[in-house]
Amino acid sequence: MFRSPFSPAHPREQHAGARLTIDLAALASNWRMLRDTAQTAQCAAVVKGDGYGIGLERAVDALWSAGCGTFFVALPEEGMRLREVLPGATVYVLNGLFRGAEADYCEAKLIPVLGSPGEVEDWSRHARAVERELPAAIHVDTGMNRLGMTLDEAQACAGVEMPPGVAPKLLISHLACGDSPDHPLNEQQLQRFSKARELFPEVPASLANSAGVLNGPAYHFDLVRPGIALYGGACRNGVENPMAPVATLEARVLQVREVAPGDTVGYGAAQTVHEPTRVAVVSVGYADGFLRAAGSADGAPGAYGWIAGHRLPFIGRVSMDLIALDVSAVPDRIMHRGAWIELLGRHVPLDEVAGAAGTIGYEYLTDLSRRYARRYVGLDLA
Ligand SMILES: *Cc1c(COP(=O)(O)O)cnc(C)c1O
Repeated sequence: MFRSPFSPAHPREQHAGARLTIDLAALASNWRMLRDTAQTAQCAAVVKGDGYGIGLERAVDALWSAGCGTFFVALPEEGMRLREVLPGATVYVLNGLFRGAEADYCEAKLIPVLGSPGEVEDWSRHARAVERELPAAIHVDTGMNRLGMTLDEAQACAGVEMPPGVAPKLLISHLACGDSPDHPLNEQQLQRFSKARELFPEVPASLANSAGVLNGPAYHFDLVRPGIALYGGACRNGVENPMAPVATLEARVLQVREVAPGDTVGYGAAQTVHEPTRVAVVSVGYADGFLRAAGSADGAPGAYGWIAGHRLPFIGRVSMDLIALDVSAVPDRIMHRGAWIELLGRHVPLDEVAGAAGTIGYEYLTDLSRRYARRYVGLDLA
């Protein structure tokens, strides 16, 4: 459906401080890998947060072409955007039913994930008003204590064979510690989920996020719901990340300068240089969502960039629109005004940059800026 590689909603490359390349073929191949891992379970895709920052419309278009027919968003607003692109998809809204928006869910064929008795009541009331059976997912809490009904609340629903007009299509719960496969809460959640399934024996069940897919068949049930792994992020601690990177960020070099020993770089004079150092200044900063916490200071190295086989440590703080990097080892013919330094991608893994900023790949990706030029590649391979 989207044939142009460029995003008109973002600036053109010659006007932007950095360019973000989204590899839709990698997205599609990550989905296929997870689908194959899930074996007989159906593989959906979680595309909340604007497709984890890479662009909802483009992401779902590519995933649909790869064979994915079921999607999870967080908000009705996201579901309505998705519906414009994919009239035939099954779309669940994880944050549930928003009061007053019932008719909009119906019109856009959004299936709310009902996580409290009040939501079940509202959906049921709407079903009676429109004299139609309305599909829903039932969210049972198994230990996360975020959204979802208690087992007792779910039992009350199941006991009356669901309030009139609500047709359960899926039973879900969510893992709190999927990223740590040995955490005892995983086993507890599995057991509680089995109890919930007994209440809704006919309804397909779904428990696994990305980590759950990779943690083995016990977690797969009828449908899996990976998010971060589709976008190349790591989802399990302490093991190698098998997913292909999807987003590559390259920053424009504005100038290259020499800094003498004893001098400092950037705000707060946070980092002192001890040898003659060549510094490249790039046009990206925290106003781009490039987290300030990724900056560097004496004794506390920050993130790094990459160019042509060279790793380029940040020097000093991340400013609003600028970052300085140590490029002493890079020859002039490569490092000059107008060169592009990779700040995220194959050579600078998402989870390493995020880790340098004290956060996780999820947050880093969903912060990706509207100021970057965007290019979507791999369209024909997706
Ligand atoms: C975000 C989310 C997912 C996807 O989680 P990942 O860790 O990104 O795979 C699945 N289910 C629910 C309920 C979620 O909120």
